[in-house]
Amino acid sequence: MYIDFHTHIDFYKDEELPLVYDDINKNNIKVISCAMDEKSYKKNLEFAKVCDNIIPTFGIHPWKITEVVNNLDTYDDYIKNSKIIGEVGLDFHWVEDKSTFKPQVGIFKHFVKKAKAYDKFLNIHTKGAEELVYDILDKENMLEKSIIHWYSGDFYTLRKFIDANCYFTLSVDINSSLKSQEIATMIPINRILAETDGPTALEWINGVYGMPREIINVYKGISHFKNISMDELKYHTTEGYKNIILK
Ligand SMILES: [Zn+2]
Repeated sequence: MYIDFHTHIDFYKDEELPLVYDDINKNNIKVISCAMDEKSYKKNLEFAKVCDNIIPTFGIHPWKITEVVNNLDTYDDYIKNSKIIGEVGLDFHWVEDKSTFKPQVGIFKHFVKKAKAYDKFLNIHTKGAEELVYDILDKENMLEKSIIHWYSGDFYTLRKFIDANCYFTLSVDINSSLKSQEIATMIPINRILAETDGPTALEWINGVYGMPREIINVYKGISHFKNISMDELKYHTTEGYKNIILK
């Protein structure tokens, strides 16, 4: 079994969905499909009714905070029903409108507190705000309940996340990015997970529109650069799946 710990099935076009489900089932992939916002979560819930290898999770992406309701407690039922929380986090790199930074922090803190209250893991975007994400999680004692998604910050903060026992997803640039390959060598084997981040992430890297089976190439890359067998890697990601999703 392959596990894609961070993707966005709602990024596919409607007419592609039958092919996507088929690809997921044929290749025996468990798919954690992260919401960007409420609308995206509802779509993912529908996908999961058709394809039970899809696990929909609720979160508000830092790019989508303008769509957030005033009373964040409105989201409580979604959070309770979601196996883990995501995608959530901070983005001070791609988001150009600095006026969103403060509300981003407020919303992220809310989700971290809820994850703590309901004992759930978080699937976290850290772009350009790695140190602040660390501090917020540390303050709530939630570092051990964190999946750091596609880390690309500095090695100093990476070391802190590693020492705090976080999980990490490695992504579709593992076969081309020297930095991601170096990160793979640093993360302990029992904290490495794999992801594709939806069809458009691979397209962003090398122009190829990614189907769910792209997760197999990510596994191959991790296995190669971590110098472990595919079976060993699958064993550890399955243990992670049990610990994070099935607990
Ligand atoms: Zn994502």
